Amino acid sequence: MEAAEAVKDAGARVLRGGAFKPRTSPFSFQGLQEVGLALLAHTREKTGIPIVTEVVDPHEVGVVAKCADILQVGSRNMQNFSLLTSIGKSKWPVVLKRGFSCTVTEWLTAADYILNEGNADVILCERGIRTFEDSTRFSLDIAAIPVIKKASHLPVIVDPSHAAGHHDLVPALAKAALAAGADGLLIEVHPNPAEALVDGLQSLNPSEFRRLMGELRLMARAVGREI
Ligand code: PEP
Ligand code: MN
Repeated sequence: MEAAEAVKDAGARVLRGGAFKPRTSPFSFQGLQEVGLALLAHTREKTGIPIVTEVVDPHEVGVVAKCADILQVGSRNMQNFSLLTSIGKSKWPVVLKRGFSCTVTEWLTAADYILNEGNADVILCERGIRTFEDSTRFSLDIAAIPVIKKASHLPVIVDPSHAAGHHDLVPALAKAALAAGADGLLIEVHPNPAEALVDGLQSLNPSEFRRLMGELRLMARAVGREI
């Protein structure tokens, strides 16, 4: 609730929160799962903010969709074709994050699995790819934005947080994404990042987020856009 109120106040339109977390290690915190979904539903009801949340199991699309306005497919599941087909059949709007080892073509053909079932509401999300560079968590592929604009009609948003891996780097990447034509940004925020159970190092606190939103608003005007 604290995060939802802070980001809504700063101008965020949608709240992304994970209940089912696809963690690299089975020993890492796996999310609050059903309890997390209920908390997200409660937050939506109290604040009116729409919710994006991740679904990891093709059989759970219906359950997750009850608490979400938009589903998310995470990077590790971008080519989970039974999950994509199940979301396609649900007709629920979905954010499809780019697999961190996948080309743009592989990403667009993954989106086709959803579109092909009659679900047109696919939002692509660039979140960084794996390269030899290790000064950031992943390498944000800014060029993918204009490449997709040329190849597809689908909206493309950018997650600078997972690419950067560090909160200090997030504002610069967010601004670069806006300048390159991104249709939206997915930015991790935590009321107290030091206490976050997942990804605290890359999370902005509410005042950093508010400052960034102010800077993005100014930049948007300069490139004929509005936030
Ligand atoms: C997330 O969005 O919380 C997440 C795990 O991101 P990704 O799937 O891009 O790694
Ligand atoms: Mn995360």
